[in-house]
Amino acid sequence: MKNGKTRQVVVAGGAGFLGSHLCDALLAEGAHVVCVDSFRTGRRENLRHLSREPRFDLVEADVIGPLPTRLRADAVFNLACAASPPHYQADPEHTMLTSVMGTRNLLRLAEACGARFLQASTSEVYGDPESHPQCETYWGNVNPTGPRACYDEGKRAAEALAFDFARAGRAEVRVARIFNTYGPRMRADDGRVVSNVVTQALAGDDITVYGQGCQTRSFCYVSDMIDGLLRLMAHEGNPPGPVNLGNPNELTVGDLVQRVIVLTKSRSNVVNRPLPEDDPRRRRPDISRAGTLLGWAPRTPLEAGLRATIAWFAEEAQRAASAPAPPRRTAAPRPMRVGLG
Ligand code: UDP
Repeated sequence: MKNGKTRQVVVAGGAGFLGSHLCDALLAEGAHVVCVDSFRTGRRENLRHLSREPRFDLVEADVIGPLPTRLRADAVFNLACAASPPHYQADPEHTMLTSVMGTRNLLRLAEACGARFLQASTSEVYGDPESHPQCETYWGNVNPTGPRACYDEGKRAAEALAFDFARAGRAEVRVARIFNTYGPRMRADDGRVVSNVVTQALAGDDITVYGQGCQTRSFCYVSDMIDGLLRLMAHEGNPPGPVNLGNPNELTVGDLVQRVIVLTKSRSNVVNRPLPEDDPRRRRPDISRAGTLLGWAPRTPLEAGLRATIAWFAEEAQRAASAPAPPRRTAAPRPMRVGLG
């Protein structure tokens, strides 16, 4: 509530994996949520359960272009961007412009409404880090011309833009640097390690390990991440800069694969594939700033998070297997309510 009125929150990218969980959490807090999504990588299924929710509106729009003039907000979350390497590399020009033009459009919306703005940034701003674990004060080691640059440099530009708006007093900004996050509603086809390995293990297909699997990542469960994003947005006072959000429990990709195999009782074989260009060798967040500022730390152990994720992917596979075959020619299924409340 703000001045006795329901708070209106815009979630750009609200049909995506993190965005849809964020919409749910904001609705549970009593907010009116306006989701803006282009559905390039976001999915209608992630929002289907909200189709009759009176405090939820959906605007189908690409943040690269002009936003609807009627859009109003007390707070703006910018999660709009393809986030898995295969998806963000599929249309690199669009990825770069989503971060640059999209962030500018949403910052201008925040400025016009006097809304607080939160940018979903990424651990990718650290590139292949030479400093470990990664603190917010580390400036990163990004290849500016490689295949990941459209995402990494786009997100770096978005951070620069956000802090320029803040310096100029045009908007109150928060920047979350989100480390690898997993959980229900990840796309089975998004090419990321958790979704790939879990779906392969459940199907009994070969499990693809890129390189020798000795590169490390630190995986945060989705509910912990959403809690961190909400706390950062709600934080009063001026954060000293970006804030890392992630789980500091670091493990190798090979170790992750073994855990998934055990939990799924899978008989899949593990096969090695070439390591993608510029694949970071190590990644682990230093989350002391989030701890001090927000009293935040992830709480979900990897095994519990993996169990929940595996159960969700197993249900999805069952649903897909029992769904009637789609008619050969389909009209676009659009039962979602679209509008601005
Ligand atoms: N990876 C893998 N097998 C896969 C997909 C990814 O071994 O099927 C590796 C990938 O090369 C990287 C790590 O897992 O080292 C995490 O990849 P992901 O795409 O999930 O996220 P990233 O942290 O690279 O953005």
